Amino acid sequence: MSKQLILALSKGRILNETLPLLADAGIRPVEDLGKSRKLLFDTNLSDVKLVVIRATDVPTYVQLGAADLGIAGKDVLLEHGAEGLYEPLDLEIARCKLMTAGLKGAEPARARRRVATKFVNVARRYYAEQGIQAEVIKLYGAMELAPLMNLADEIVDIVDTGNTLRANGMEPREMMADISTRLVVNQAAMTIKHDRLKPLIARLREAVAARRPAQTG
Ligand code: AMP
Repeated sequence: MSKQLILALSKGRILNETLPLLADAGIRPVEDLGKSRKLLFDTNLSDVKLVVIRATDVPTYVQLGAADLGIAGKDVLLEHGAEGLYEPLDLEIARCKLMTAGLKGAEPARARRRVATKFVNVARRYYAEQGIQAEVIKLYGAMELAPLMNLADEIVDIVDTGNTLRANGMEPREMMADISTRLVVNQAAMTIKHDRLKPLIARLREAVAARRPAQTG
């Protein structure tokens, strides 16, 4: 069995917030991730390596044990499912909301609502729970375009400031879930590599706690 711990990081927006948190926890890649085309990196800790992959691939790597731990958005984890994964820590970064949204002022009138999203599993569950008949259409990007082009009545997407929605004549409707970035751990690794994983998770937990504003009063 590999002596090294492999930590899978999500590329893109989350990575910019992840690297400073890892640094706070004393984990630093030995080279600049942004300047390299490599995907596998050594760190200052001899037994920890990083892989930088698409956010949606992180749960798969960790679930199948190719990585021992991973850092992924709750949106991705909800969509992927939690089988084979522990989620021991909320890293409290890249916060946003998963919401439904539609064209400003438009009523979601159709009996069978057409919903465009990349979160098809989350959307199907949500509309079923609400007792709303929905035809869920999978898109890979630019969800905001779908109602404008009459492809869908509504979208399910991530909202941060709401600027993207507003810029496309849309407004948020229902709040579905609060999202933040989570640490996930392969369940078998948690048992087999517990001695090495435990201090690493503890470092990250301390780094997260140290960033919280001090309690007053
Ligand atoms: P905003 O215009 O600030 O509401 O940002 C919305 C867009 O940014 C969405 O289309 C998302 O794809 C993306 N986004 C915002 N926050 C996050 C996040 N924490 N994780 C992933 N994508 C995000």
